[in-house]
Amino acid sequence: MRTLLVLGAAALVLAGVAEAARSPVVVIDPGHDLRANLVTEPIGPGSSTRKIKDGGGTRGVVSGTTEAELNLAVSLRLRTLLRRAGVGVLMTRTRTAGTSVGNVVRAGIANRANAALLLRIHADGAPTATARGTHTLYPALRAGWTDDVYAASRHAAGIVQAELQRALRFPDRGLQERSDFTGFNWADVPVIMVEMGFMTNPAEDRLLATGAGRQRAAVGLCRGTLSFLGRDRAACGG
Ligand SMILES: [Zn+2]
Repeated sequence: MRTLLVLGAAALVLAGVAEAARSPVVVIDPGHDLRANLVTEPIGPGSSTRKIKDGGGTRGVVSGTTEAELNLAVSLRLRTLLRRAGVGVLMTRTRTAGTSVGNVVRAGIANRANAALLLRIHADGAPTATARGTHTLYPALRAGWTDDVYAASRHAAGIVQAELQRALRFPDRGLQERSDFTGFNWADVPVIMVEMGFMTNPAEDRLLATGAGRQRAAVGLCRGTLSFLGRDRAACGG
C-alpha cells in the first residue's frame, strides 16, 4: 500500500513535469528599474549604432509613482493571472532595486527560455498633460534581425492592444512599428511593448495608481496573451 502511494505520487510528479513541458512560457519584462543605465549597447546584433541601455522611464504627474514601480506592479498581477491560467511565466525582474540591466540582457532571457512571447510592460510620458491613450509597439521588419519574429509579433501586438485598450478604456492610439528598439532587434522570439497609458496625463496616472486600475490592465494583458497563444481568454477572470 505504501509502495503504491509512493508510485502514485511519483506518477503525479511526472505528469506535472510533462504538463510543464507542454505549457508555453511567457517572459514578462517590466520596463526600467530603480536607476537608469547610461551605458550604451548595440541596437541589434553586429550593429555599429548604439543606444543607452535605459533612460530611466517617466513618472506619475499626480501620483508621483515611478514608471518602474507601476510596470512591476502590473507585471506581478499579470504573472498571477497567467500562472493561474496554466501559462509558464518568467520575469526579467521582480523588484525595483537596482541599475537597469538594459535591453540586450532582457531579450536574452526570453531567447534562452524560447518564450512564446516577450511582453514588455511600459507606461508613457509626454511634455504635455493632454497626451493620453494606450498603444502597442512591435518590431519593424529587418532581414537577419526580426524577419523570424516579425509576423507573429505584429499579430500579437494587434490582439494585446485591443484587449488592453478594452480593459482600461483609455483612447486607442493603435500600433506602431519600430526599427530602433534594441529590445526588439535582439529578440529571437515574438516581442511586443505595451505603453499602457500616459503617466503625464492626470486621469490616466490616477487610474494606473489604483489597485483596480492595475488589475484592469493585467486582465487585459492576460486576455490578449491567452488569445495570442490560442487559449481561452476567459481563464483570466475579471
Ligand atoms: Zn518606459
